[in-house]
Amino acid sequence: MAHTPKPSEEARVSLVGAGPGDPDLLTVKALRCIQQADVILYDNLVSEAIRDLFPKDSTALFVGKSKHRHGIGQHRLNDLIVQLAQQGLQVCRLKGGDPFVFGRGSEEMLALHQAGIATEVVPGITAASGCTSYAGIPLTHRGLAQACTLVTGHGESELDLDWAGLARGNQTLVFYMGLSQLERISATLQRYGMAASTPAALIEQGCRPEQRLVTATLAELPLQAKQHGLASPTLIVIGEVVSLSAALAWFGAPSQTLPAALTA
Ligand code: SAH
Repeated sequence: MAHTPKPSEEARVSLVGAGPGDPDLLTVKALRCIQQADVILYDNLVSEAIRDLFPKDSTALFVGKSKHRHGIGQHRLNDLIVQLAQQGLQVCRLKGGDPFVFGRGSEEMLALHQAGIATEVVPGITAASGCTSYAGIPLTHRGLAQACTLVTGHGESELDLDWAGLARGNQTLVFYMGLSQLERISATLQRYGMAASTPAALIEQGCRPEQRLVTATLAELPLQAKQHGLASPTLIVIGEVVSLSAALAWFGAPSQTLPAALTA
């Protein structure tokens, strides 16, 4: 059966990907949704630089978790979005990265469709793409990686993963939400045959001025994470492509010293 996409003008709710942090990585459509919204519901991963773009006459509600506060919970959040839309408001549900990549956007959309509310999705640049690019790490590179796998490192599912498949070479692994499970991830991949010397990286606060990149071997990665005191949001990248990061560094890299003739 052919599906004709609904024209987005009909949508009461836009599930919008904000990308990984740099406001210049918002899509034109994402920016338009932000500018036209009556209410913007956003969470932790939406950077301050992007929040600065919220229109002054819109209502912005933080619906994420913070150190001192639990989030409002997915069910209550779904109900809230439905209620706002039913009041006739234009709702922008803004999420870090891409709403459909480890973002629970699909769960929210199911609830909205159940309530009969027209909803559109605006894809965003997901962390795996944005953060690696800003760290000079290509997700694929001829001869180094023929595939790329995005994995959730969240402990909820007891990391019930195909470790043998993940440990096989020739691919890049990107773990989202994996920092607290890093020791386990590193040890398990090695147990399933991945070389301890495999290049690996941690990207903290990717695509933002505060971005930090830590590279190490797979075996040393957990220790490096502790030594550098890395915190969320951090992305874990494992694979031979990480070995290119020094050669491809461009973002936040120390600027070249100007030739003496130019500084005189
Ligand atoms: N929907 C989001 C992912 C949400 S899961 C997306 O598509 O990117 C949250 C995890 O994403 C974080 O724990 C972290 O691992 C990763 N992440 C998202 N943004 C990041 C950023 N700017 N820097 C580093 N990691 C990031």
